[in-house]
Amino acid sequence: MAEIKARILSSQVANHVDGTVKLNGWVNIRRDHGKLIFFDLRDKDGLVQVVVIPSSSKEAYEVAQDIRPEYVVEVVGKVNKRPEGTINKDLASGTVELEAKEIKVLNKSETPPFDVTSGGLDIDEEVRLKYRYLDLRRPRMQQNLKLRSDYMQALRQALVKREFLEIETPLLSKATMEGARDFIVPSRFQPGKFYALPQSPQQYKQLLMVGGMERYFQFPHCLRDEDPRADRGFEFTQLDLEMSFVTREDVIETVEAVVVEAVKAVNGKLKNDKFPVFSYADAMKKFGSDKFDLRTEEEKKNGTLAFAWVINFPFFRPVSKTEVSDKYDSKSKWTFTHNPFSMPIPEHIDWFLKGENIDKILTTQYDLVCNGLEAGGGSIRAHTPELLRTTYKIMGYTDKQIEESIGHMLEAFSYGAPPHGGIALGLDRHVALLRGESSIKETMAFPMTSTGRTAVMDAPAKVSDEQLLELKIKFT
Ligand code: ASP
Repeated sequence: MAEIKARILSSQVANHVDGTVKLNGWVNIRRDHGKLIFFDLRDKDGLVQVVVIPSSSKEAYEVAQDIRPEYVVEVVGKVNKRPEGTINKDLASGTVELEAKEIKVLNKSETPPFDVTSGGLDIDEEVRLKYRYLDLRRPRMQQNLKLRSDYMQALRQALVKREFLEIETPLLSKATMEGARDFIVPSRFQPGKFYALPQSPQQYKQLLMVGGMERYFQFPHCLRDEDPRADRGFEFTQLDLEMSFVTREDVIETVEAVVVEAVKAVNGKLKNDKFPVFSYADAMKKFGSDKFDLRTEEEKKNGTLAFAWVINFPFFRPVSKTEVSDKYDSKSKWTFTHNPFSMPIPEHIDWFLKGENIDKILTTQYDLVCNGLEAGGGSIRAHTPELLRTTYKIMGYTDKQIEESIGHMLEAFSYGAPPHGGIALGLDRHVALLRGESSIKETMAFPMTSTGRTAVMDAPAKVSDEQLLELKIKFT
């Protein structure tokens, strides 16, 4: 047999009827019919049926007797049209099958701890995440991560087209105040001091605006030490962006156009290309919630995405006894509802500066909601030292506490900070909505378990006494 060099994919087999081709992949399901052995070979694009006939190749038949699910194989075979009545319309390769001439085992596999060919949602989460590298082989996960990648590329393209720059910001930094607890990292060079991992790149993106980078975006990981839940862990990914010299309406218009373009690029279904806008007060009156669902029953069934904007939120709320972050964030009886770096709406700047009617002051915050869930949020920012300082005064910070907490921002803003605003979209959430998944974990390669353990690698873990000594950390 002439040597076949190039590997082709399962999706291409049907274009090679009567030809001889080579495929690589995993053994999906194997059926031994005695005289014949069938197995499905699985690669990144899907499945192709392989038939192994002793009279066609005795060697291939001998190898096929020993192969098991999840073995990695190379198959050289002849592409035959399937007989009428055995065509499988669900497969790209469903009109053909591969008659094996040569099978090579490239690697064996233990029997997997669970079925990787099913949807997998009924399998225990701890087990799925311990063996995430196997779990990722299931078609649903393959499609979820493919769509995630496609959606990210589409968002990136839509932003780059609009002259946004993709800029990275540091992971090791200072507390960022997004309303959750910080993860802290001890410093070896300065024992007793700590970095905080970013709850978001909020302050750095604003500093980029001061730095004249008029349009910024990135896909940052955000880390928030909140109680992990069934549908989320400590880490998530945003599409974070910021723009200079813009109004609330400018940001809304740009983000809407980018989202519509990207959703369409991945064949998502939108209820409206123009997202309706509701005030917080109207949304509460009409839906009893600021995260409402505009879909009809029919649209719920067919996977439609119904986006909407919510604006005019209260800027401040009374401190709550149950929100742990409130005790870190606020020193008075008031704390921010969304973002301490926001600007009040222009009509309320006077109250704000005078510290009057605090409960009535509305912020420029805008939230993007979709199908009853929060899909993003942002605001126009307080870009002068006076405005930003006022927010912290309302939250009861002394001058010294303000200096310690955001002195660097006040200083930066004293050097000609442009008016600016931005938003962050929950990337994992968008992908979950596009794929009809109910948990964002189904859209992440290596999410955390609901008990806060990392997938596969099993952290948090103990560190050695030497490491602790180096950091001058002692447990009491
Ligand atoms: N930093 C905010 C967040 O992570 C988003 C923003 O206001 O841009 O929710």
